[in-house]
Amino acid sequence: MSEAYKLECMRCGTRFSKDDIVYTCGKCDGLLDIKYDYSEMDAERVVEAKGEGVWKYRALLPFNEDTEPVTIGEGNTPLYRCDRLARSVGITNLWVKHEGLNPTGSFKDRGMTVGVTKAMELNVKGVACASTGNTSASLAIFAARAGLPCYVLLPAGKVALGKVAQAMMHGAKVFSLNGNFDDALRVVRRLCDEERLYLLNSVNPYRLEGQKTIAFEIAEQLNWEIPDRVILPVGNAGNISAIYKGFLELKELGITNGVPMMTGIQAEGAQPVVHAFRHGRSDIIPEPHPETIASAIRIGNPVNAVKALRAIYDSGGVAESVTDDEITDSQLLLARLEGIGVEPASAASIAGLRKLCDMGVIEPDERVVCITTGHLLKDPERAIAICEPPYEVPADVEAVRRIMHDMKGERREELVYA
Ligand SMILES: *Cc1c(COP(=O)(O)O)cnc(C)c1O
Ligand SMILES: [Zn+2]
Repeated sequence: MSEAYKLECMRCGTRFSKDDIVYTCGKCDGLLDIKYDYSEMDAERVVEAKGEGVWKYRALLPFNEDTEPVTIGEGNTPLYRCDRLARSVGITNLWVKHEGLNPTGSFKDRGMTVGVTKAMELNVKGVACASTGNTSASLAIFAARAGLPCYVLLPAGKVALGKVAQAMMHGAKVFSLNGNFDDALRVVRRLCDEERLYLLNSVNPYRLEGQKTIAFEIAEQLNWEIPDRVILPVGNAGNISAIYKGFLELKELGITNGVPMMTGIQAEGAQPVVHAFRHGRSDIIPEPHPETIASAIRIGNPVNAVKALRAIYDSGGVAESVTDDEITDSQLLLARLEGIGVEPASAASIAGLRKLCDMGVIEPDERVVCITTGHLLKDPERAIAICEPPYEVPADVEAVRRIMHDMKGERREELVYA
């Protein structure tokens, strides 16, 4: 597309220039939205687009034709049909969109390719973020590609091993902050304002523009027939807002004729969006001490809550919470029944699916897509902790054979978890 887009406050409508470094409205502190003139846009440019991944949908990204993207081949993830898992929860049409197969192992890459490309356009001194892990891993890699200094603030002791390794390996300056994610975000927002660094948390509306391409890919992979429901984990609540926006844009362009019920899942120990939903509120009450093994969604004060709740209400979706045990069971189930390895936060979408099917909220004939947001290897310590340890044996055939014969080689269909 041309640069025919507007940067606008979703609360008071104030517009900002594309050259301004702003994240929220200077007048009312509302969240910003990027808007296009859809009446000027040719739907064919989306449906017939060539290429793959995020930049394939360039017609709906906020750059002009000759912008050089900072890219590592993000997006273009598989949509797996999951009949075994579907049967086990009592529905007939289920898919899993595995965002863990992005280059750095999470969907954050989709937002970062757009966000760091914007950082280059703005000619900033450096980039920064607070992170539960995946944002920092992704930003570190895109900053390396762009040649920009990168600063990341992580809550001490609460970031999965693989994610810290990525941030460190790719040359980010890593701070281990004595506080939780919400504290880290508060600190980094001040620093970005005062040090002319570009903030790449999901409060940055350019990131959401990249992440909305998840919706475009799902629609395209289902031959432009949208699913009835999309289920995903909710942390800072950017992704659910972004995906909803993507589906809305397809509808606006007349490519599809509705939007899926946006269904957000949080962990029981960190569920401000679920609480707001249960009380019919349009904003959250922050939780001061979020706690869950799903570290990527261990967030008590999600910045995009207002956008996320709007997405849930307007699409007829729901927000639901799941326990850490339900997350663990679902992580194992998905890994063993379907061969899809995900980190704990991602398994929240599967745990939510199972709970909502049990509750009768999801109808048996609904077409459902679960989004798994990050790869299993992000959190190898957790995987080892929840699986049976290996059998220690001497280098002797009989010793191995004896143990093998005692094992039950169960068929996968019969696997049942509590
Ligand atoms: C970032 C992240 C989330 C949460 O996404 P939000 O946009 O913050 O709601 C969930 N799962 C994984 C693996 C993540 O990295
Ligand atoms: Zn405003």
